[in-house]
Amino acid sequence: MMPPRGQAHRAEQLATLSRAAHERFVSEEVGRLLDELRDFEAGHEPDSFEACLLRVAREDYEKDVRVPPELRAELARAGATGYTAWIKAREADDFALFLPALEHALELKRRYIDCFEPTDEPYDVLLDDFERGMPTAVVRRLFDELKGELPAIVLEAADPDAPTLHGAFDADEQRLLSREIVELFGLRDGAWRIDPTVHPFASGAGVDDVRITTFYHPGNLDSLFATMHEYGHALYEHQVDPGLDRTPLGSGVSLGLHESQSRLWENLVGRSRAFWAFFRPRLAQRFPRELAGLSAEDVYRAVNRVEPTLIRIEADEVTYSLHVILRFELEQELVAGRLEPRSLPDAWNEKVHAYLGLEVPSAREGVLQDTHWSLGYVGYFPTYALGNIMSAQIWEAVVADVPDLDERIAAGEFAPLREWLGQRLHRLGASLSPADTLARVAGGPIETGSYLRYLREKHVGARSGA
Ligand code: ZN
Repeated sequence: MMPPRGQAHRAEQLATLSRAAHERFVSEEVGRLLDELRDFEAGHEPDSFEACLLRVAREDYEKDVRVPPELRAELARAGATGYTAWIKAREADDFALFLPALEHALELKRRYIDCFEPTDEPYDVLLDDFERGMPTAVVRRLFDELKGELPAIVLEAADPDAPTLHGAFDADEQRLLSREIVELFGLRDGAWRIDPTVHPFASGAGVDDVRITTFYHPGNLDSLFATMHEYGHALYEHQVDPGLDRTPLGSGVSLGLHESQSRLWENLVGRSRAFWAFFRPRLAQRFPRELAGLSAEDVYRAVNRVEPTLIRIEADEVTYSLHVILRFELEQELVAGRLEPRSLPDAWNEKVHAYLGLEVPSAREGVLQDTHWSLGYVGYFPTYALGNIMSAQIWEAVVADVPDLDERIAAGEFAPLREWLGQRLHRLGASLSPADTLARVAGGPIETGSYLRYLREKHVGARSGA
């Protein structure tokens, strides 16, 4: 809602606030208190609130104390001004307008990495800020496994005769439909709202302050899936144990786990046969003309089209991870200094050609499409694909406990899934590490088997038998 020229004021405010918060947190007094509490912590069960709180506070402290407040402020300011540069560059479709901001961001990232012990994988430091405890080497192995399998699934999944859901979808009706979805999936009364935006997100000030945003494009029904996605993020925060409120444990534990929840509602629920068996009649009530002649199976095929495209946020669930992998590889090259920022557009276009078989016609549809690097978020992208991978592991765990999950969804009953996720995962907040959280919920470490099995069964198996 801020007018564009408000950006400069916000950049200064963010720099000041982040510097002040950082200085208070890394003060000697906090360090002394954390030291004094070591015996107290050892006297509590490792899973107890006290021990978890102290462990997380100490981890945060030990990272933050290494970063000088001046650098912290500079990172915040560079993020805000980089974002403005990116907006201009994207509008003008001119990478050169963004290049100085990107060079500056990478320079600051290198100074940030230098605050920590030297390692063989400088990227570990950056990744840890978004997915704590996840080594780059593990991500590389998981992504290599995906790279080995996804291209074949993309080819086999091609369904050129699949119907499409294009038409004239009135924005007001879409708005009502998005409300209906959130009401059906379920949040506590009086604790949520939904508003329009350009780039959907979910935020809020606590478990009972849920703000979902979505977009409405009259030519298609993408708003439905954006709403389901943001609902998944919102539900995670909504179901954190209220006893953790206003502590470092009181929100989702990592971006990867967060994305596992948004993707679960968007894809494993929202793009399932069971869901469309239930929801097709409701959709047809709002859009009788557009849905005429389309069966539930037709809609299911339409919303599951697999086709390489240029834009990550519009990608289908099979090609999506390839978009992420190419960004992960490029940012490691940038951080290591093996790729010059000015050569990034060419490197980008080459990878898009290699992984998706597409030519990139413009920077706007290529290297300038995402905002992350402009904000200084280097190491963020992998969490999207980690979320995809974990969503399938968590889904298998739900199905083991709720064997009639499909029937329940087909009957429009979402409470069993919502409550399972709340009890087993969301309630924990950030009490356990991301890896321990996943192990607790899915019974083991992150692995690509469940996700690849899900994609194959859905996009290859079904059609080869039909
Ligand atoms: Zn998301």
